[in-house]
Amino acid sequence: MFKALLIDKKDGAQSAEIVDLDDGKLPDAPVTVRVEYSTINYKDGLAITGKSPVVRKFPMVPGIDLAGVVEASSSDMWQPGDRVLLNGWGVGEGHWGGLSQKARVKPEWLQRVPAPFTTRQAMAIGTAGYTASLCVDALLKQGLSADQGEVLVTGASGGVGSVAIALLAHAGFNVVASTGKASEAPYLQTLGARQIIDRNELAQPGKPLQKERWAAVVDSVGSHTLANACAQTRYRGFVAACGLAQGMDFPSSVAPFILRGIALLGVDSVMAPKALREAAWNRLARDLDAAALDRMATVIGLAQAASAAQDIVAGRIRGRVVVDVNR
Ligand code: NDP
Repeated sequence: MFKALLIDKKDGAQSAEIVDLDDGKLPDAPVTVRVEYSTINYKDGLAITGKSPVVRKFPMVPGIDLAGVVEASSSDMWQPGDRVLLNGWGVGEGHWGGLSQKARVKPEWLQRVPAPFTTRQAMAIGTAGYTASLCVDALLKQGLSADQGEVLVTGASGGVGSVAIALLAHAGFNVVASTGKASEAPYLQTLGARQIIDRNELAQPGKPLQKERWAAVVDSVGSHTLANACAQTRYRGFVAACGLAQGMDFPSSVAPFILRGIALLGVDSVMAPKALREAAWNRLARDLDAAALDRMATVIGLAQAASAAQDIVAGRIRGRVVVDVNR
């Protein structure tokens, strides 16, 4: 038997509870993983609270990421004892996910935990951190360099934001963090932000073209924040967009694209090809130090996952929430 968080929907009402399951209940797939850690990403918050239709079938074990050890494998890609991690691929949405002591998944969804990291550290990064790394890679691929000017990170105190600040600061960028939590300024500065701005400066409807400021942007917020970030991006600058914490809308105009030649780079972590995933994790392994990770991460048990889900959709989380599924 093993424990899992199970969400179900009956008569339109969604429930989330810890249940005991046996291996026979696991989905049919070639690799069984003894999960050690999972996390609460924003999408997990939406899935567990039912705030958005993230879950595609019920009952569902949520958890879009996991790290642990292979217990059994009928695929020659993995052997028992291998340390593995998983991000996305629809796990926790259409296939049972990581908020469980066991998971059964496809071999091609798994990656080796990079050498410097424990499974706990891999999940302190989790899908939010890996997505931040995808964003940084997307910007650098365009030719962005540190001498081009300030880089804005929105949703700064969240999971994507925290890791993006640390990676960009490590690469020598002058990072400006936009946050709604003024009290988190010292935290953001320790991660490497040189300046903090109030997110209200970006959150309201704004003009299609504004004073040019940012060489590049990492945005996990969407809506007016993304529109204003584009309107303030310098001639031929770049904006990596990966999130919707403020909203899914994009109330912008074509002006920044056709008059300033800025590039909007969409970043998806769920179905990202293997080469991009490996490059993103290699950057994290090389550039993210253990002390920064410790500052970002709070560890909770499986029993606290449902309340952490409420907290993340309410914007009450700082950094990353790691779930020790065996605690
Ligand atoms: P978090 O909740 O950890 O971070 C989001 C941050 O956004 C908050 O901490 C807060 O930061 C800010 N925020 C929250 N609500 C609002 C609001 N109403 N208006 C403006 N800012 C707000 O989430 P994650 O970092 O895990 O994810 C961030 C976003 O990225 C989510 O939308 C998520 O779905 C998306 N995402 C997308 C992925 C992809 O594949 N494209 C993968 C991973 C995440 P502060 O208080 O500092 O302002």
